[in-house]
Amino acid sequence: MSKIHVFNAGPCLLPQVAIDNTIEALKDFKGTGVSLISISHRTPGWDEVMNECRALWKEILNIPDTHEVVFLGGGASLEFLYVAMNFLEKKAGYLDTGVWAKKAYKEAKGIGEAICVASSSDKNYSYIPKGYEIPSDLDYFHITTNNTIYGTEIKEDIDCPVPLIADMSSDILSRRVDVSKYALIYGGAQKNAGPAGVAFAIVRKDALGKVSRYIPTMLDYRVHIDKLSMFNTPPVFSIFVMNETLKWLKSIGGIDAIHEINVKKAESLYAEIDRNPLFKGTAAKEDRSIMNVCFVMNDGYEDLQDEFMKFSKSHNIVGIKGHRSVGGFRASIYNACTQEDVDALIACMQEFETLHKK
Ligand SMILES: *Cc1c(COP(=O)(O)O)cnc(C)c1O
Repeated sequence: MSKIHVFNAGPCLLPQVAIDNTIEALKDFKGTGVSLISISHRTPGWDEVMNECRALWKEILNIPDTHEVVFLGGGASLEFLYVAMNFLEKKAGYLDTGVWAKKAYKEAKGIGEAICVASSSDKNYSYIPKGYEIPSDLDYFHITTNNTIYGTEIKEDIDCPVPLIADMSSDILSRRVDVSKYALIYGGAQKNAGPAGVAFAIVRKDALGKVSRYIPTMLDYRVHIDKLSMFNTPPVFSIFVMNETLKWLKSIGGIDAIHEINVKKAESLYAEIDRNPLFKGTAAKEDRSIMNVCFVMNDGYEDLQDEFMKFSKSHNIVGIKGHRSVGGFRASIYNACTQEDVDALIACMQEFETLHKK
């Protein structure tokens, strides 16, 4: 079979070595003769995986001792609720940068008072709001660093007068982050950290315990910290694959190495979108994401959209259909996507240009 170039937005492409090692563990977990999906999560061999995975998160992201990493079920969408349950006492502020940001905001409003501090909904979320002021009376300020659907990204760790909370589902592990600036960083693993089925949270421990409500046991970050993410049965399979993905990331040089690769991939694809008269980008240039590259057919070429979709498919390019709220195309170029994959897409766009340029 010839190589398929996968640009799925999530779940997404994972490194082949992580997939291969998982296949081996599915047959025989660490020489026990038992499959990974049949072991008890209380066996010592499993402890080693959990400990290794936690240690790799800390090492790769340089997480300080003030913070702890936990692994959870329920995805980023359940963490929208965790955030409000664990941090909202009087008032929370949200930055409205798209569908996911709005969903997080909705959960907070269901729990208490939450305000929208700034929004880019006026231009279909094609940019990141700037120049807004963060009120100093908030319990926390919530941002979505990478807007998976619109291809915009907050690429720097912002200064914030109140505890800062970030949904980093789709750009975690793509760049260096100053974890000390955040009370909480959370997300689903399936965009960059691993397969679907596990979510992560990097929590500043002393930011917890400040709300007066009863927090249901499973929604209390303190419980998961105390129990080392094993209060109940953890998603064993997903954590195993996540650990293998982190091992791969470390082996290729860690966060600075992958960031350099990611920037190169993104720059090359944006350069083609800007050069090729058949296509145009949809996100404001200064806010362009290095993970999700959104583009549409250029003016005068709109009727070629389905044609390009078919053309790219015939070139083994998979997963570039844009989200329905933006249309056009979206190439998700997460960590495991290679420059070779991006070059294949660029070549395909150039071939299409030769065939259709007016
Ligand atoms: C995909 C995504 C989510 C939702 O993740 P689930 O794990 O499916 O709940 C939330 N936020 C962002 C930024 C995402 O990209």
